[in-house]
Amino acid sequence: MKLTLPPRVSPQQFDTALQAMARVVGKDWVMASDADRDAYADVYAPGPAEQWPASAAVAPASVEEIRAIVRLANEHKTPLWPVARGKNLGYGTSAPRMAGTIVLDLGRMDRILELDPRLAYCVVEPGVGFFDLYEHIQREKAPLWISVPGNAWGSVLGNALEHGIGYTPYGLHARNLCGIEAVLPDGDVMRTGLGGMDNNPAWHVFPMGYGPTWDLAFSQSNLGIVTKAGLWLQPAPAASLELVFDIPEAEDIGWVVDTITPLKISGLIEQNVFVPSWLGKMVLKGQRKDFWDKPSAIPDWRIKELLKQYKLGYWQVALRLYGEESVIKAKAEIVKAAMARNLKDPPQENWWREGDPINAFEITMGVPSAVPLQMSDWIGGRGAHMGFSPVVPATGEHVLGQMRRSRKIIADFDIDFYASFTINGRFANNVNMLMFDRDDPGQIDTMRKLFSTLIGETAKAGYGEYRTHLGWMDSVMDTYGFNDHALRRFNEKVKDALDPNGILAPGKQGVWPSAYRDSAKEGRA
Ligand code: ADP
Repeated sequence: MKLTLPPRVSPQQFDTALQAMARVVGKDWVMASDADRDAYADVYAPGPAEQWPASAAVAPASVEEIRAIVRLANEHKTPLWPVARGKNLGYGTSAPRMAGTIVLDLGRMDRILELDPRLAYCVVEPGVGFFDLYEHIQREKAPLWISVPGNAWGSVLGNALEHGIGYTPYGLHARNLCGIEAVLPDGDVMRTGLGGMDNNPAWHVFPMGYGPTWDLAFSQSNLGIVTKAGLWLQPAPAASLELVFDIPEAEDIGWVVDTITPLKISGLIEQNVFVPSWLGKMVLKGQRKDFWDKPSAIPDWRIKELLKQYKLGYWQVALRLYGEESVIKAKAEIVKAAMARNLKDPPQENWWREGDPINAFEITMGVPSAVPLQMSDWIGGRGAHMGFSPVVPATGEHVLGQMRRSRKIIADFDIDFYASFTINGRFANNVNMLMFDRDDPGQIDTMRKLFSTLIGETAKAGYGEYRTHLGWMDSVMDTYGFNDHALRRFNEKVKDALDPNGILAPGKQGVWPSAYRDSAKEGRA
């Protein structure tokens, strides 16, 4: 990818900045060739990756190096886009929102600084991946579980900071963060909560502190570069038991949610319950062309045939219970009875089953996996996906409304409907997976229009996305319109106060510093 400079920076100024940065990190850790820029491009870009071009990448190895880089960025007005491992697939991977931003690659900072088996937490740097932490815990024989996202090749902190979701009792990953160290946009370094004292041993166990609580102000944010954080872990349970329910019809999602939500809120079910539609299972069985060889959406009659042939429900609830054996057995009876009460027809034999003891995924047991990545092959060619991800209250009424609306819109665009609801307690995260071939401009054009329509129509109905791809960060922020966009105005006030030169992640989540507010128009999908 050719060089795109940051706004108002000349080639000479840019070279001077990179040379100064090379003196901090060593010249091998400043990457600015065309091939380097390709390596930091969005591998799942909906359209040409050149829409969100990084100018270079810099990889520091310590907090002090980060501080020095941040000071240089202020001096030379070269903005930085921090990434942990840069695997934020479907949302931009490591590409920046604003053209010409320098990627600040934190992958070299990959130490696990603490692992406390008694109080069940760890302290990690941003480069620590899910596989790294998992293996470390195994090596230490610590009786702890981590919570992993569907595809676990990213970092523990990057995922938590982006509001990632997992399918264990600790599945709301941002909530596990406790005590953060961050380099601020002016190069200062601060610690949140009890970390405001030197060496307070309760820093990573008390989630508040004294005064306002700032931990989550660094999530989905451009106010600081997180250099380490505490993360709570789940004590390994004595046993666990998986119940799998195949749910026949699309409309059944309403009663499924009404059945599971109260059990989840009361604590009988502890995990975040993942309910994918049938296509979530099919994508692991082959390629789309093996099942339907036309470009048009798979019609309902063919879906019925496939469900029958592969013994799938329209939805699958795979629910895991954790704890002492006697307790989870008793819980399982309560869950089964609640589900049976709501099935229209009396339960047939095999309407539920216990999960395989050796389940290939084990994602509900905190074992990292990259198997779900296989989904990319479904469509053929250079497969990629985006997720349209609104949040709704976890009631049948809201979930059904959301499902019907997005299903209709997606059908109107003649695209396959592949949805999941994750029941987290009082709310459900709905992800509508949209798959496309990166080399098919027609498909990409349809996807982009579809995505924008989904955002607009869903917002009209009152709901918003909780996470989105670079190209729609502004559109989604636009939907948060209460009181003349008071939320955006507040974000901008804070941003300008902390980052007067606007050097940190301009445009992230639709929050632009005054220095680059005019850039908000560019790079919108
Ligand atoms: P992963 O490591 O899981 O692949 P990324 O590195 O792609 O995740 O991070 C996702 C997003 O989270 C980044 O684009 C950035 O906005 C934010 N992020 C990641 N790490 C940090 C960090 N240490 N400090 C601040 N923001 C971060």
